[in-house]
Amino acid sequence: MPELPEVETMVRGLRPALVERALVRVEIRDPSMLEGVSAVKLEAQARGATVAGVFRRGKWVAITLGGSRGIIVIQPRMTGGFWLVEPDRLDHIRLVFHLERPSTIVWYCDTRRLGRIAWYADLAAAEAAFARSHGPDALAIRVEELRTRLGRTSRAIKPALMDQKIVAGIGNIYADEILHAARLHPERPANRLKPADFSRIHTAMRAILTRAIELEGSSFDAGYRTVLALEGGFLAENSVYGRAGAPCPTCARPIVKTNIAGLLGRPTHFCPRCQRKGARGPRS
Ligand SMILES: [Zn+2]
Repeated sequence: MPELPEVETMVRGLRPALVERALVRVEIRDPSMLEGVSAVKLEAQARGATVAGVFRRGKWVAITLGGSRGIIVIQPRMTGGFWLVEPDRLDHIRLVFHLERPSTIVWYCDTRRLGRIAWYADLAAAEAAFARSHGPDALAIRVEELRTRLGRTSRAIKPALMDQKIVAGIGNIYADEILHAARLHPERPANRLKPADFSRIHTAMRAILTRAIELEGSSFDAGYRTVLALEGGFLAENSVYGRAGAPCPTCARPIVKTNIAGLLGRPTHFCPRCQRKGARGPRS
């Protein structure tokens, strides 16, 4: 469930706790979550290393170790998250960062263990791994490239926007919000959209993701919390997600909740007046 704003919020929360701090050790509690690296290797690389930086690519959290010790990459996927306060479910702890001066503990928890923990020797290796399975980051992609990448598929625009290989960072909640702001029906075929449609998607994507980061993301259920165990604030002011039957903030018609093909039962919310399915597009 964590999407770009939630993962960016994790990164911003982790920086003050980790950056320029010495790791006493990284404790792997659940080696089954490791991908392409052993617990022995990862623990050896991290022991005594200073954290040089924490950054995000798509929905990946990357922790750079100084002294050429490599990069730890954690993908929270559905149920992962970081804690600077002691987690309430100790049995969900999968990895622990132990820091010194002053002594600090950072926990990575993952309820359903769907996340992944990897290690890469350097930034180039991490970037190459990301590029094999992802398109450009949603906050970095230019409108021309977004148009080219979305315009290649005849799939519906909503699942296309959520395809990490096309553009990285968008999931179910923000896809609904972006398409409402762009006044596009979620089932419009991506390759039938006009240049102006892609421009509205690009503008809405930047505005909504940026605002959601300011509000520290979306907590729809018990899943996502900030590193201080707080709920994100975006769903207090969003337009459609989770608001079935409530008035559209643009036209006051009730928001519709439905299921569309290709989304594995995840709900879609839209305004039937602002986001019309017909090729003629929305009423102005
Ligand atoms: Zn509307």
